[in-house]
Amino acid sequence: MERESLLATLIVLLGGSALQLFAVWPGRIDIKSASRRLERLHWFALWWPAAPALTVAAWLCGWALSQPDPVPDHVGTLIFMAAVPFAIVGGRALVRAAWALCHSPRVYGIVTVGLLRPRIVVAPELAKTLDEPAMQAALAHERTHVRHFDPLRIWLAQFITDLQWPWNSARRRFTDWLAILEQARDDEARAGGVEGADLAAAVLGSLRFQLGVGTAAATLIGRTEALPARIARLLRPLPESERDEEPPYLVVAAGLAMVWLVAIVLGLFCGERLIGTLLAMSY
Ligand SMILES: [Zn+2]
Repeated sequence: MERESLLATLIVLLGGSALQLFAVWPGRIDIKSASRRLERLHWFALWWPAAPALTVAAWLCGWALSQPDPVPDHVGTLIFMAAVPFAIVGGRALVRAAWALCHSPRVYGIVTVGLLRPRIVVAPELAKTLDEPAMQAALAHERTHVRHFDPLRIWLAQFITDLQWPWNSARRRFTDWLAILEQARDDEARAGGVEGADLAAAVLGSLRFQLGVGTAAATLIGRTEALPARIARLLRPLPESERDEEPPYLVVAAGLAMVWLVAIVLGLFCGERLIGTLLAMSY
């Protein structure tokens, strides 16, 4: 059997199992923190369940490096059958990601679209219904989405959430992140001089232009279920700037790189016994 085909099958099976196992993690973040930092923590919570699956994939890649091509082993039907559900979940996630790319919101008030070159799109009708301060507040909010490439981040977040389908915990992590994302962008716009009341007026004015669902776009109104709390928050004074420390990205990235390197080395030198047993069991 071709080495790469066997590797892909095992990654789908074992990586998919690890992802589904860790997708159950509730991942609720209930700490008081500056909204930008809180947004980052929620963003990491979306991706964290994928780390074990990537570790398994790294270990399998290490094992594959030690194998001749084509590999002498054959894969039993049991392994193919066990991998099918994970392949379906992956295929569904890819289809939904492609769908989100091809379908822009048909009805919108103001929205940021574009994965690599985000831009703000405003419905002409919205400009007629909002007064000037509200319109400027809406634009300031959308400019923060542009600055952070939020359409791309929303698209990626939807994809990693779909890979953890059908777990509700993954779906909830996604909606929690979307809500805190809007709060963080509101706060950033207000820190730049926008009045909370103007932004609240813009959000409410945009509601009549209900946006399409499931597209890779960063909207002004965000998730409708989070709106009451968001409007109430906008009408309160902007919280005093809390310690807005960035999470230790470099430490986390270096730690993960080290874990994956160790996994590759372990796969290279100790993978054969485990994989051989697994393949023998599949006949
Ligand atoms: Zn927004």
